[in-house]
Amino acid sequence: MPATVIVGAQWGDEGKGKIVDLLAQHADLVCRYQGGPNAGHTIIVDGETFKLRAMPSGILSGKECVIGGGCVVDPEVLLEELDDLAARGVATEGLVYLSGNAHLIMPWHVAIDRASERRLGRLQIGTTRRGIGPAYADKAGRLGIRVQDLLDPKILRQKIEVALAEKNVWLERVYGVEPLDLDDVAARLEGLAQRLRPYVSDTSLLVDRALDDQRFVLFEGAQGTLLDLDHGTYPFVTSSNPVAAYAAVAFGIGPNRIDAVVGVSKAYVTRVGEGPFPTEIEGPNQERVRELGGEFGTVTGRERRCGWLDLVALRYAVRVNGITSLALTKLDVLSAFEELPVCVAYRLRDGSETRDFPAHQSDFHHAAPVYETLAGWAEPLDDVSSVDELPAAARAYVDFVERELRVEVSLIGTGAERERVLSPRGLEAVARP
Ligand code: GDP
Repeated sequence: MPATVIVGAQWGDEGKGKIVDLLAQHADLVCRYQGGPNAGHTIIVDGETFKLRAMPSGILSGKECVIGGGCVVDPEVLLEELDDLAARGVATEGLVYLSGNAHLIMPWHVAIDRASERRLGRLQIGTTRRGIGPAYADKAGRLGIRVQDLLDPKILRQKIEVALAEKNVWLERVYGVEPLDLDDVAARLEGLAQRLRPYVSDTSLLVDRALDDQRFVLFEGAQGTLLDLDHGTYPFVTSSNPVAAYAAVAFGIGPNRIDAVVGVSKAYVTRVGEGPFPTEIEGPNQERVRELGGEFGTVTGRERRCGWLDLVALRYAVRVNGITSLALTKLDVLSAFEELPVCVAYRLRDGSETRDFPAHQSDFHHAAPVYETLAGWAEPLDDVSSVDELPAAARAYVDFVERELRVEVSLIGTGAERERVLSPRGLEAVARP
């Protein structure tokens, strides 16, 4: 009963989509365990670009796809995505399962997300304004509406009424925007509910049975470790838990059923929005990495901040996720540089050096990177089709990462296309430990 978790090891956008897509070919079920429809995975198959938002990327390989209880789902966005896939000839019939415990993103969540970011002005968190944070907040506040509420029109309307009684006060009095109309919202949701009902499933039972039947289950997280609500760089985090252990929580299986954790990291680092970023590149090289790596948000188009590889942060990701092997993506982007600084430690305010990620935010805010400079390979990786063909300096870069983290690099990304991944041990061995 092999179960493998794929987790972002940095601040998200590590290229998880492509890695999941590849490993999914060896899986029977692909399960998304947290996040909402801001998580735009970009996957290029046969030259065609797919931007997935809620759907696990396994759908492109015809796998059974499960959206777990740790996710928040915008019913309208999910249906659009299903329609879009169908229009492009991707089969979804009988392949998509939606947990009844997942929470719904309701129109007031989107309205509040937008109004609240507008009100914060310069101090805004930089959310994607899709209502994800407010939906998670209501889940914790026990005011949330769940996917299973879609199964009963009467209950659905009652819950909308209760929630709107409070949310409309907020919308009008706090944010000064128009309130929402109960009949409108209820009618809209009932329309969506009719289409979504067939997908609602007991996903804990589904996954448990699959594992008992020796089927291979792949769990995919959205965002990344440093954006984790509990373990990330709070408050510049997401409102759910990307860390690998949350796959078990979200699906209602025991943590001991997870056999392997594949961390996905770029060969450098990017970060979106505000917050401390010790290895952020100074000068024109930042722009160069951004252009070469196409570091702009999939859904938002926002520019990503770019930095040199941070092994202190990555060591932390190995620790908090229990990463058993690493996928190092976008190595090709570094081909443009003669020299590559890699951060091996942080220098703290008191002058001391640490190789461990600081537990306290003030230490992290003031951490300065201690770099070791490795030689670049300064040649494209376009024609490299096996690890042995990598330029010596590129191999040395990968070896250095393995040594520093004491974790095997099992996959190396050398380009955006699906085929552009080197796997020294073969994909199946990585997917099915
Ligand atoms: P995700 O949310 O973690 O999947 O990240 P994104 O969807 O933002 O993916 C990152 C981008 O990098 C996508 O446009 C991918 O096609 C691209 N990508 C993934 N792996 C590689 C790689 O090894 N090299 C290059 N150049 N691009 C890659």
